[in-house]
Amino acid sequence: MRTSYSALNTFKQCPQRFKFQIIDKIKAPRSPEAMFGSSVHGAMKFIFSHDPLFPTLDEVLGHFSENWKSSAGKSSKQLPVELVQVYEESGKGMIKNFYKNNPPWNFSVVDTESHFEVLLLDERGQAHILAGIIDRVDKIGEGEYEIIDYKTSRRLPSQEAADMDFQMSLYHMALMRRWPGTNPAKIKLSLYFLKHNEKISSTRTKEALETTKEVALQTIKIIEVSVKEDNFPPVVSKLCDYCPYKQICPAWKHLYKKEEQNFDEAQLQSALKEYFEIKNVDSKNEDRLAELQIAIKSYMEANKLERVFDERGYYISKKLQQRFKYDFDKVKEILTAAGMENEWQKILEADDKKLKIILKTLSPALRVQIESQKILSKEFTVLTASTKSVK
Ligand code: SF4
Repeated sequence: MRTSYSALNTFKQCPQRFKFQIIDKIKAPRSPEAMFGSSVHGAMKFIFSHDPLFPTLDEVLGHFSENWKSSAGKSSKQLPVELVQVYEESGKGMIKNFYKNNPPWNFSVVDTESHFEVLLLDERGQAHILAGIIDRVDKIGEGEYEIIDYKTSRRLPSQEAADMDFQMSLYHMALMRRWPGTNPAKIKLSLYFLKHNEKISSTRTKEALETTKEVALQTIKIIEVSVKEDNFPPVVSKLCDYCPYKQICPAWKHLYKKEEQNFDEAQLQSALKEYFEIKNVDSKNEDRLAELQIAIKSYMEANKLERVFDERGYYISKKLQQRFKYDFDKVKEILTAAGMENEWQKILEADDKKLKIILKTLSPALRVQIESQKILSKEFTVLTASTKSVK
């Protein structure tokens, strides 16, 4: 399979979005946040791309403003002028701060926006390629490099999260592939948070890189199964507000399609109304609720909907319930290899609850390794109802 870090990330966040974007290739307008991020990244590249004559701060700010206004102007959804200005001011603030703290002549930048490919071989010997773009690579000493990834987000991750950042581990592997003679311990990985002018750096051990490889291959394997079974469940989260496919998503589209009501829809609305009345007023009417559930569920299945809404915006969701269990042979291998036989003895009577307690005491790398050994043991669908209106 040929894929990218961002595709894997999209799949992990929401398989349904992955299907729209990567499999069906449905073109979608870019969000203001995405356009803004690209313009700021463009300015960062511009700062370092003019060696030996570096651009002045005014030139960089001008370059950014022009790019940002041009992207905002081309947006299919007209952005309010005030919003365009707020973003422009925010971008300029980040660039000024960055330029002041990082005069470009102080760095030995060897590449910017560098395309890379990482080759991964699975247990069947099948090759998979992960492609991506590294924002910046600096030479920081003899045989020493720093990979820098710019972030425009507000949230600062913890050091532990930065140490385990999957994207940065892939960048490390990409650099090693490009310059195989490099000492892996001499590659520094830095996330640069432009809003706060904060850099969080980390390195990677051989074991951490092995774990990254395993996690990437495992995600690829899950994607392959999803493609084979055409199974891409939507995962409703805060990210839905930024998803360009919301209006066609099975978890949301019913909310947007009220005007196309037909006989079935009217029946559904009546079923939903009654469902919520009974649910709210009289818990004794469980039998009727069960009948309505069957009617609503069959409507949802017949119409391939993940959620259905009544006129107030109350909704019923179809939720896939999954139960996982650990592959204890693999867990034993991992703990034994880490010299933790005692911990293995403690869970000899294989028990998920005991393992969960021990997991909290392990290093992040071991935790990821063990988590990746979960096996799906059971799954079923239930309906859940909410009287918290989305309108
Ligand atoms: S709207 Fe939400 S659930 Fe639907 S595809 Fe987008 S992210 Fe997934």
